[in-house]
Amino acid sequence: MNHGVRLIFVGGVNEIGGNAVLLEDFEKNVKIFLDFGINTKRYNDHYKKGEFPKNLEELVRINLIPNEEKLSLQGLYTKMFSKITFKQENGKKMSGMLLDYHQSSNLDGILISHPHKDHYLALSSINRMIPVYTGVVTKEIIEAFYKSSKPSLINNFGNLNWKTFRTGDILDIKGMKIVPYHVDHSIPAAYGFIIYSSVGPIIYSGDFRMHGPLSRMTEEFLHEIKTHETLLSRTENKIELKAIREKRIKALICSGTKINKSTIESEKLVEENLNQLFSNNPFDFILVKHDRIDWDRFRTFSNLAKKYEWKYIITEKDAYFYYLLNKDVIHDTMRNPNILEEDHIHILIKKHATNTWQKEIRQAFKEYKKHHRFMSYKQLKQLDGKFFVYITYLDKQLKKNLNFNLKGLFISSSIDPYAEEFYDNTSHIRKELEDYGIPAYRIHASGHATAHDLINFINEINPEILFPIHTEHPEFFQKIFSSSPIKVILPEPYEPIIL
Ligand SMILES: [Zn+2]
Repeated sequence: MNHGVRLIFVGGVNEIGGNAVLLEDFEKNVKIFLDFGINTKRYNDHYKKGEFPKNLEELVRINLIPNEEKLSLQGLYTKMFSKITFKQENGKKMSGMLLDYHQSSNLDGILISHPHKDHYLALSSINRMIPVYTGVVTKEIIEAFYKSSKPSLINNFGNLNWKTFRTGDILDIKGMKIVPYHVDHSIPAAYGFIIYSSVGPIIYSGDFRMHGPLSRMTEEFLHEIKTHETLLSRTENKIELKAIREKRIKALICSGTKINKSTIESEKLVEENLNQLFSNNPFDFILVKHDRIDWDRFRTFSNLAKKYEWKYIITEKDAYFYYLLNKDVIHDTMRNPNILEEDHIHILIKKHATNTWQKEIRQAFKEYKKHHRFMSYKQLKQLDGKFFVYITYLDKQLKKNLNFNLKGLFISSSIDPYAEEFYDNTSHIRKELEDYGIPAYRIHASGHATAHDLINFINEINPEILFPIHTEHPEFFQKIFSSSPIKVILPEPYEPIIL
């Protein structure tokens, strides 16, 4: 075959997350993956907390990472993969992974849309020769997760062949142009892609929403899809210009997470609900749980704490992530809150700094002369009220050092279970807190577009073909668009589709 485009959907089919779509353009002789995630639900069915996969074959067998033979790919994964311990310059022992570097692959690249684990985690095992295209801050966040957790078969992101981009850039893979463009999601550094294939533009939406504080970014992506401004501004050939302008969008590969069930919600409503609670608040402290890198939610809670002169207490791991985002801002809103400057934010620290990232964050606070905002667990015990504690789980040390004589409240505000943390432990936390007489509230806004926003988004793009993925209910799209000029195709895992 030497013309046309073939799509093979491996993950994210009839399921939320684990996206991996192989796109092959035969005319341009290009093979790329769109996202390379692991389905967290399936992962949880096989591994308990603290258990890890033993080898790559096991991951392929339980369908967590793509089967390269079935896809006629060579050199997709690293052949040498063993845990090693080595000595650092300071004499300290470190664990890492040993990898091979010199095998070739017929895959030309992997594009990662955003730093949620169900979109990138399988990168851990790839051949380090393969280029990985992603946003500047997307890479930073992936590396921060990597550095702040133990190395394992699914946490090994060292020495990847990163090729980073920002909105406004054009990627060129063997002559195939791809325009990455920012979208609003529950995590910073989320992108959609316009792939200028030999059969016409193919859109990969990634995860997105229209009701977040940065919904303007999704609007701008939509505008880009309709006008091709970025590519046109850098094309001189008049025939090419005309061809780009006149081509209908060939296909839209769209995240459809909430098509079957939506709520009218927004970050603004979250803020309003919290303010309502505070206007008449009988509680002394509040435990808060949300996705760590949900920057908008962090800002909402931090602003509330500041307004009511409460302390906002986070761990040093949280501080490390926010510090990285502040450092390499991709959008103005990520300057606020500034972890070094905001004096109402306090950092709960353990006695010893054993990891490099801990040393890095402690050093940054010291240099900025803000280390008086470090708080020991002993100091936490002495607080007599007016404080938030941000938690991802209830660890022993925290339980030992929280003053449960005070009146506490738990607010669960996790928005995308399975996207960041593998184990959604909210109900477990809620149950445990019942023993202390701590009531639980749920205050929520999703990272995914509502059903009506999805339908309008698809209609505006008006593609020839729609592939709904990242949803358990793709059949909704078939029904909804049955009388429209948009043809809906429901992909099946590993079934090739020729465009
Ligand atoms: Zn996501």
